[in-house]
Order: sequence, then C-alpha cells, then structure tokens
Amino acid sequence: MKSEVLVVGGGVGGGTAVTSLRKANLNVTLISVDSFIYSKMTLSYALKNNVTSIDPYVILTHDQLKHLGVRFINDEVVFIDPSNRVAVTRGNGMFEYDVLVLATGSKVSTPKIEGLELSGVYTFISFSDMIKLNSAAIPGKRAVIVGAGMIGLLIADSLYSRGLNITLIDILPYPLMTAVEEFISKIMLNRIKAKGIKFIGNAAVERIEGNGKVERVILASGEKIPADIIIVSTGVTANIPSGLERLRDGPGGSILTNEFLRTSIPDIYAIGDCASSIDYITGKPVYRPLGILASYEAKLLPLTMMNMSYKGFIAYQVGEALGYYFIRLGLNGFESKRLGLNYSKAIIEYKIPGVGAHRSLVLYEKGSSRIIGWQSIGSAMVSYKSKIFENLIRDGCKLEDIQEKNIRIISEEP
Ligand SMILES: Cc1cc2nc3c(=O)[nH]c(=O)nc-3n(C[C@H](O)[C@H](O)[C@H](O)COP(=O)(O)OP(=O)(O)OC[C@H]3O[C@@H](n4cnc5c(N)ncnc54)[C@H](O)[C@@H]3O)c2cc1C
Repeated sequence: MKSEVLVVGGGVGGGTAVTSLRKANLNVTLISVDSFIYSKMTLSYALKNNVTSIDPYVILTHDQLKHLGVRFINDEVVFIDPSNRVAVTRGNGMFEYDVLVLATGSKVSTPKIEGLELSGVYTFISFSDMIKLNSAAIPGKRAVIVGAGMIGLLIADSLYSRGLNITLIDILPYPLMTAVEEFISKIMLNRIKAKGIKFIGNAAVERIEGNGKVERVILASGEKIPADIIIVSTGVTANIPSGLERLRDGPGGSILTNEFLRTSIPDIYAIGDCASSIDYITGKPVYRPLGILASYEAKLLPLTMMNMSYKGFIAYQVGEALGYYFIRLGLNGFESKRLGLNYSKAIIEYKIPGVGAHRSLVLYEKGSSRIIGWQSIGSAMVSYKSKIFENLIRDGCKLEDIQEKNIRIISEEP
C-alpha cells in the first residue's frame, strides 16, 4: 500500500476518510477550501433555529486534526496533474501524492432560468448559503422554493417555522417524487397544504423578474407568483477538480468508481457526492448524493485500498419536514427505471406499538417478486421495521415472505 495519501475536500466524506485512514496508520494530508470540516446534512436545522455559529456542524476541529496526525491545508485545489501525481492549490501550493482521494462533493445544478442573478435569489448547499438565507428569512416575507425534493422540503420546513409565506414549485406533479412514490408524495402534499403552504406541481419556471431585486416568478404557463426571496433547489451535480475532467464518466456526470472506490486513473479514489456508488440490489453504478453514503464509503476506504471490495450500498434516505418523517430504503421508482429494472408496488399494513395500524409501500421486481425497496411516512415511528425491510432487501426475499413478519399486503400496484 502507498504511504502518502492526499484527501481533497473536507465535508462528511473527507472528514470521515482522514479519520479512518489515520486509524490504518497512513500519512494523510487534507486540503479543503472551507476552513472548517463540517457536515451539511443538518444545515436546515440551523436555518430553522436561527443558528449562526458553525460549531454544532463541525465534524473535526483543528485540534482534533492535529491530534489525529492529519496535516490540514486550508486552500482550494485548482488543478490536479495525475501523470505527475501533484495537486496545485490557489495559494500556489504543490502537493505530491502517492494516493489521491477525491471528496470534493457536489455543486448546485440550476436549470437555465432568466433572472437568477437578481438580488434575492439563493441556493442552499453550504454554511455560507445558510448564513445568507438566514438573514433574509424575515417573518411575513414571501419565499418561493423552486424544487420540492428532499432539500426543497427541508428549506420549506425551516422557513415555515420562521414565519415566512411559502410557495413550493416543482416540475413533477407531487413533492419528493425523486425520492419516493406517488403514494408517499401525496401524503406529504396533504401535509404541505394543511400547513397553508402553496404547492404548484407540473410547473416549469421560465424566468424571475424584478427591478434589480426579485419581485416575481413567471411560470411557463404564464402564471405570475409574487416573491421577496427565491431559493433554487433543483438538485446537485458532482464537483470535479480541473485536470480530472475525463473522470466525469459515471451516472449523472459523476466520477465512475468501482467496487474498490477506485476511479479509472490508477491510485485515484473518489467518495461521496462527487462520485458514483454501486447499488447493492442491481450491482450497477448509481449517483446518490447522500451524506450517509459519503460516510459509509469513507469508512470503507482503508479496506478497499487493501483490495477488499464492497458489494454495494442499500440506499437509506430519511427526512423530517412539517412534522412528518419519511424514509426510503433501497431502490425507488426513479432509480429502478434508470437502471432498467421492471418493478411493481404494494401497499402493506402492520401495527406500530403506541401508534396503531400503519400503511407503507413496498417495491418489488416484476417476475421474481424480489423486494427492492420500502418507503414509509407519518408523524411518528415511521422507521419501525426498517431493519426488517433492510434484511428482506439484503437477503433477496420475495413479496410473499413479508407475511411471516406480521405484515399484511393490502393491495398491489397502487
Ligand atoms: C440542507 C441539506 C440537507 C441534507 N440532508 C441530508 C440527510 O438528511 N441525509 C443524507 O444522507 N444526506 C443529506 N444531505 C446531503 C449531504 O449533505 C451530502 O451528501 C454530503 O455532504 C456529501 O458529502 P461529501 O463529503 O461528498 O461532500 P461535501 O460535504 O459537499 O464536502 C465537500 C468539501 O470539499 C470542499 N471542496 C470542493 N472542491 C474543492 C477543491 N477544489 N479544493 C479544496 N476543497 C474543495 C468543499 O468546500 C467541501 O468542504 C443534505 C444536504 C443538504 C444541503
């Protein structure tokens, strides 16, 4: 195994990676453009609670890095020359490496919308984004959130708590549809409406208008929505350092990695939001920008560097918005279609202690009946039985097997 490991990017992936690599006794240098090694996963809670200190989000302090024996360089890598194994930073640093770990995360992917440069338009992917939005989150202001995926919903939840009037817009008919199926999305939609939040589905934003500052959003249908602030939350795309453009060969323009987390360039590994990962069920590469996955891969790194492969990751996505928790395990419809897997859905019912009968959704492969996914939503205990479903998926169990687990099939293909 090579000895000088250079990790680029100090988020969940990079921060966890340096810890696991040091435990394996490797010499590690970490370069990150952010001065703090922090997690973005709970930024919406900071917005909700008007937290302006980064301290609760720091994964590793400078003292902890020193104690671990990690050399930390607070700088931006502006170029990587893989043939000479060197990374160049904005501060003119030249860092040679034997092994390179890319953990550079993702950046916001915005559709082409006229007016995005107007004052009052925000994104929400970093601590500095959170600080900017935080100072604009004045009670009574009209906030339009473009994109009602998981992050869009988390932002809606935070701004709702801060007393803003919210409109959520999505190109898909219901909220959360890139994560869960219609059955779950509709329950979330009812919750959104019950809270007095306006949701406009099947809607494309054509332009943003205003005199120097945001005043309204214009939809392709011609509808005009008055706005004081606009938050664009339409997904992310892999962030790949310059010099390594040829690595953008994975799904969704991510860095394709194999079962050893290796890229197509020798001794370059990639983890987290900049990279693809392997789906456990199909064994195929997928792009899943999830912190839980970045952390999982970071912990695997020392093993894969010693030629131990991993079989794949069972997607696990949880969130809480407007008092409702949702969970998605395994493949969803969106991914199944992309992976060419023919699936059906079934509504199932079981009892949750203290809650009563609870309905959730199972996805299974057509033909084989193999369970490939599970989704649940509600105000309490929604993750009840999640371990059972994870095992059912991992073991390749069939739909009929769930009846042995005190679960009733209510209807198929809702
Ligand atoms: C509001 C919000 C809520 C979320 N909630 C969840 C959740 O509930 N569950 C979940 O699983 N995921 C969640 N996510 C997603 C999760 O935050 C990301 O998947 C995770 O942060 C990815 O980790 P990463 O280490 O790959 O990248 P990041 O955390 O983005 O870290 C990348 C780091 O690399 C640095 N960097 C980039 N380029 C360079 C360069 N050229 N030189 C030096 N440094 C560089 C960046 O500054 C950054 O510090 C959420 C995300 C957001 C924004």
